[in-house]
Amino acid sequence: MIEFSSVTKQYPDGTIAVDNLDLHIESGSFTVFVGPSGCGKTTSMRMINRMITPTSGTITLDGKDISTVDPVKLRLGIGYVIQSAGLLPHRSVVDNVATVPVLQGTSRREARKAALEVLERVGLDLSMATRYPAQLSGGQQQRVGVARALAADPPILLMDEPFSAVDPVVREDLQNEMQRLQGELKKTIIFVTHDIDEAVKLGDHVAVFSRGGKLEQYDAPQRILAA
Ligand code: ADP
Ligand code: ADP
Repeated sequence: MIEFSSVTKQYPDGTIAVDNLDLHIESGSFTVFVGPSGCGKTTSMRMINRMITPTSGTITLDGKDISTVDPVKLRLGIGYVIQSAGLLPHRSVVDNVATVPVLQGTSRREARKAALEVLERVGLDLSMATRYPAQLSGGQQQRVGVARALAADPPILLMDEPFSAVDPVVREDLQNEMQRLQGELKKTIIFVTHDIDEAVKLGDHVAVFSRGGKLEQYDAPQRILAA
């Protein structure tokens, strides 16, 4: 369970990116942060893995104040997927996915085997596994990005507009894959998008942000549509 209590983030230039956020995110839920550009979605997400420090307020993870947890340790349990997949360009697809497990002590052979299984789960054509990221389409790179985050098997997955840079057909395919994965994996997923249709399709909870970094509404997707 992730809990924001009176969390405010003001950047040094004075911008209030997140204004007094109170939010309770259940373990195993798929929560979407939605709203127009600049309303504090990314800032809120990045405070969860301590990439950004709140100006005031507290964030707890299963009751523990994250400001007391070593950021490196914290991030072992929190996968992070961004818009540009951020893959290592000089490693093959399979080695991109195997990198973190190898760093954590899994043998290279075992990590590669597990990587292939995860790549298959996210729907990547396995003939791509020995290619380099630049040889993949945008949609394929995003699949590898998701597979890499899943390979470490973190209980929490943060996804910041992961599908916004791919064309609409591929995006729909990735969204369907994501829905299927959530059913299988039972992870706590926090997903940022500015696309309300995507939010309502994927989320079991939707947090609507508005300008000035205020949380406007937090509800089930069918009630968001009705509002
Ligand atoms: P969103 O993800 O909803 O687009 P962000 O969290 O990225 O919003 O940004 C919220 C607000 O904070 C915006 O007004 C943005 O310009 C501002 N902002 C983001 N990062 C910084 C920064 N490092 N310094 C100053 N202002 C920032
Ligand atoms: P998308 O619609 O997903 O962006 P693309 O049109 O970019 O797809 O790519 C279509 C196919 O071409 C994919 O199977 C991809 O692997 C392959 N491909 C794209 N770029 C390269 C490249 N530089 N080298 C080899 N194959 C490529």
